[in-house]
Amino acid sequence: MPECPKCHQFVRSQAIACPHCRLPLKAHGHPGMKLFQATNDEPLCASCVYHADNSCNFPKRPYAMDCTLYQDVEQPQAVSSQPQASFRLQQWVKRNTPLLLVAGLLMISLGVVLVRR
Ligand code: SF4
Ligand SMILES: [Zn+2]
Repeated sequence: MPECPKCHQFVRSQAIACPHCRLPLKAHGHPGMKLFQATNDEPLCASCVYHADNSCNFPKRPYAMDCTLYQDVEQPQAVSSQPQASFRLQQWVKRNTPLLLVAGLLMISLGVVLVRR
C-alpha cells in the first residue's frame, strides 16, 4: 500500500486525497496516474517540457506545484506512440488464428504422410 508523501500514513492506491492530512494525491480525475509535486518553492512548470515548448494549456500553468502531466526537460522522453513489436505480433496472431490452425493441420498431415512412406 503506498504512503502519503506528506504525513507518511498508508493510503489506498486509488485515493485521490490522503484521508489523514487531505493532501491531494491524484489530480483531475485520473486515478492511478502519478502526481508530480514540486520539491521546493519553484513551480514544476519552470522545468517542464510542455512549458518550454508552449504546448500546455493546463490552467495551473505556469504556477503548478503539482501536476499529473509534468515532464522534466532534463529527462529523455520514453513515450512512444508506436505499439511494440511483441504487441503487434500478438495482434496478428489473434487476427489470423484460423489460418494458423489450417496451416498447422496441413503440416501435421504432411508429416504423417512422409512418416508412412
Ligand atoms: S504540464 Fe503541468 S507542469 Fe507542465 S507546464 Fe503544464 S501545468 Fe506546468
Ligand atoms: Zn497524508
